[in-house]
Amino acid sequence: MSEIQIELTSIDKHYGTFHALKNVSLRIEKGSFVALVGPSGCGKSTLLRSLAGLEGISGGTIKIAGEVINNVPPRKRDVAMVFQSYALYPHMTVAENLTYSLRIKRVKKDVARKAAEEIAATTGLTGLLDRYPRELSGGQRQRVAMGRAIIRHPKAFLFDEPLSNLDAALRVQMRKEIRSLHDRLGATSVYVTHDQIEAMTMADYVVVMRDGVIEQQGRPLELYDTPTSKFVAGFIGSPAMNFVSGTIAASGSDVVLDLPDSPELALGRQLGMNRAVLVGLRPEHLSVVPLDQARIRLPVAVVESTGSMTYVTTATTPELTIVETGRTVVGAGDMVGVRIEPAHIYLFDEETELAL
Ligand code: ATP
Repeated sequence: MSEIQIELTSIDKHYGTFHALKNVSLRIEKGSFVALVGPSGCGKSTLLRSLAGLEGISGGTIKIAGEVINNVPPRKRDVAMVFQSYALYPHMTVAENLTYSLRIKRVKKDVARKAAEEIAATTGLTGLLDRYPRELSGGQRQRVAMGRAIIRHPKAFLFDEPLSNLDAALRVQMRKEIRSLHDRLGATSVYVTHDQIEAMTMADYVVVMRDGVIEQQGRPLELYDTPTSKFVAGFIGSPAMNFVSGTIAASGSDVVLDLPDSPELALGRQLGMNRAVLVGLRPEHLSVVPLDQARIRLPVAVVESTGSMTYVTTATTPELTIVETGRTVVGAGDMVGVRIEPAHIYLFDEETELAL
């Protein structure tokens, strides 16, 4: 088994009477890239800040490289944090920002400059070492923030929404840069984001948090393929999964949807009789088909085209989103045939919202 670099055991965090982290346990392998993802307020930043020592914990144990560090101050934890706000020193040049930690350790000037040049080459900052942060673009500032972390050779990199201030195109580019830096350095990285696409594309392992607990953890496609709850099913995947009420028909293996004129759908698995369920249908597993070939016919409310994809939203309650590759000829107000891929039907218990 691979070496565990970070081990969180039964972490609790209270802010006064508010219970922000509830018995959270997580093991992170050395060399892995782990994303903590979840909606605003779920506790992901609190967990990262607890790991960095910026936040005290109320209970539990934090180990880094096998050593309990609960009472070790942030500076001595040997982790490097990269923030959304970059947190660069405005009055220092790029080189001075990069080598700040070396200069504190009184490393000689020429050694520090050489280290700055090496880091600049690694992070794409060559030629910018004598500029001030205000003379850099957002992406370049974020690279300085990363370079400053790399130069310390930390036991782990902790990223707190580092790309949130960048525009969409730059975010996609920086996503790849951060991941490839992680690979080249053989680093261990923990990355907080509210953006599930960022988590899915960058991480080896994704931890989905909700209300201070870990709802599910696994490899990105495991979470997409086999979500254990409606929450994870709805959070992972874009556009989000559609949910429709349904019942398992008396035959015991067919689902009847609560959509107008909706047919029975053969499930091919036994789930007991006459049971109310929530049916999860991913937009990409639905398709628009000619009316005369369809068992489900639904009115269209909105059609949105991005060129490569078309998003069709139905005028039903609840509405369904259908993703079509390429273009379609359907428009708002049309009736369309809808096909559901039977192999891709997700079922959740109506009450517990857990996967069946
Ligand atoms: P976001 O994406 O919005 O940053 P998050 O998942 O990172 O969300 P946290 O910042 O970890 O959320 O906060 C978790 C919960 O703890 C929130 O409900 C927040 O209001 C609360 N919280 C955070 N810091 C404090 C504090 N210093 N005092 C009281 N409550 C706090």
